[in-house]
This record gives sequence, structure tokens and C-alpha cells, in this order.
Amino acid sequence: MRQTTDTPDSAWKRDLRAIPPGLHFVSTPIGAARDITLRALDVLAGANVLVAEDTRTLKHLMEIHGIALGGRPLIAYHDHSGEGQTQRLLALLVEGKSLAYASEAGTPLISDPGFELARAVAAAGLPMTAAPGPCAAICALTLSGLPSDRFLFAGFAPSAGSARRSFLAELAGVQATLIFYESPKRLADLLADMVATLGPTRQAAVCRELTKRFEEVLRGPLDDLAAQVADRDIKGEVVVLVDRAVPVEATEDSIAAALDEALQIMSVKDAATFVSQTTGTSRKIVYRIALDRSQG
Ligand code: SAM
Repeated sequence: MRQTTDTPDSAWKRDLRAIPPGLHFVSTPIGAARDITLRALDVLAGANVLVAEDTRTLKHLMEIHGIALGGRPLIAYHDHSGEGQTQRLLALLVEGKSLAYASEAGTPLISDPGFELARAVAAAGLPMTAAPGPCAAICALTLSGLPSDRFLFAGFAPSAGSARRSFLAELAGVQATLIFYESPKRLADLLADMVATLGPTRQAAVCRELTKRFEEVLRGPLDDLAAQVADRDIKGEVVVLVDRAVPVEATEDSIAAALDEALQIMSVKDAATFVSQTTGTSRKIVYRIALDRSQG
């Protein structure tokens, strides 16, 4: 009989490398290749089937970390791959296979494919887990210097000007740090629209090339950042973060004006909640004024 030299510690490590059946979402680096987690490497090394938004990117990442594909299937999958491809992956899970899914960079589903697959796997009641790791939104929030107690991830704003301004206006009253992804070529337009819709004085941050050689974080009021960016040829990947609205000293007149506007598109209840949040005034007081105005 073979003697085992396993210490409790190495047995624990070996155990982690046994990849159970099911779908394993794997977060991958957003820049520095060494940001991959040990567990992500275990999953990539041990899964029966590898699935990726971009098969070449995943192959390259595995090569960097010395993980051989070793004849295992490597399947391309994104949210528009279609029902047929989703069913093909579900069939593999039903057979008891372990599947590792990685998007091009960062955490799958976060402005990246994976949602349709997660929904289908959840609906089918099949096993699913995640090896968490890098995500540009969280890395940027950590470095922004803005409050992290509450945040709203807004993804990419629409690229057309008027749709982008409406999108931002809807977020104006949100009492949380707002997080946006953006392409460098649209950054100046996004910041200019933020000045117009969210006001020039809100504190904000632009986080560029996170975890990479030219990592940079610009912090300041929105108008200042807009002016800085307008003068530069911005390259690389960026995340924009904006502080929540600072409630202004509200008067009965300013509350009434805000309510009149809100009541044009909202019920009395919703208008009262919205104006109470954006002016920092008690909901009870705002609701009473709203009732008076809606009846008068
Ligand atoms: N799934 C990824 C994640 O978890 O962050 C996001 C993928 S999304 C297609 C790509 C966007 O994420 C970029 O346009 C940029 O806004 C942001 N991003 C990704 N990597 C970044 C980095 N290293 N520095 C700054 N922003 C980054």
C-alpha cells in the first residue's frame, strides 16, 4: 500500500482542487495577471470543460499561469450565443460535468456576459458557484475617496447625448455613490453631461488603467474633472464615480416647486418620496405639501 505523506495542510489544499460538478463563474484579472486568485487557478486547472467569452484571452491567461488545456473542450459563450448554446452547456451540467466560465476580464455578469447562463442554470436547479476576484467597479470604489457605505453600479451610460442626459437625470437623486464604466473616447462627453445634469460641484473620481502600469486616479468636483479631461487625450480603461447629491437647504417654496415638477410624472406617493430624498426633508412634511398641491 502506498504511504501517504499528506500533512493535514496539504490534504486541505488538495481538497480545494477537487472541482465539484456544476457551473463555476471565474473572475479574471482586469490588468495585472497576478491578480488571479488561487481558487480561480484551481477551477481553471480542474474543470472538465472551459467556457469563455473570448477563448483566446482565456487560453492566454492559462498559459501565463502554466495551466494546460490538456485536451479539454474550450467553448465560446456570451449572452447572444443563443438558446441552442445555453442548452448545450446545461446538458453538460446535467451529465455531472464541471464547467468554468470566464468573461474577457474581471467578474462575469458585471457589464459582461454570463447573466443568461446564470439565469438558465438557476431555473434548471443545477449547481452553480463563483470564484470571486477582480472587478473594476469595486477596485475604483476602493480608490475613489468617495463614500463606500452605499453605491449604485450604473454600468455604461447610453452613447447618444439625449439618452445619456435622461439616464443621468434619473440618477440625480440617488443617495449613493454612483459608479459608471466608460470608454476613453466618450469620457469627456460623459463628464460634460454630468456637470449639466448632476451639477458642477459634486465630488467625483476618474479611475484609469487600474492595476496596470499607468494607473491613475483623478479626484475633484465634476466641473474640475471635466475641464482636466477636455484638455487631454485620455487612453485606456476608465471608471467614473460620483458622490451622492448633497441635500440643499429646502424651503416650503423650493419643495413646492420640486413637487409640482415631480407630480407631472409621478403619483402623489412617489413624488413625495422622490422630493423627500432629493431635498433631505422629512417625508411626512413633503407628503402633506404634495397632498395640498395635488388637491388644489
Ligand atoms: N467585468 C468587468 C469587471 O468586472 O469590471 C468589466 C467589463 S466591461 C466590458 C469593461 C469596462 O470595465 C471598461 O470599459 C472600463 O470602464 C472598466 N474597466 C475594466 N478594466 C479596467 C481597468 N483596469 N481600469 C479601469 N477601468 C476598467
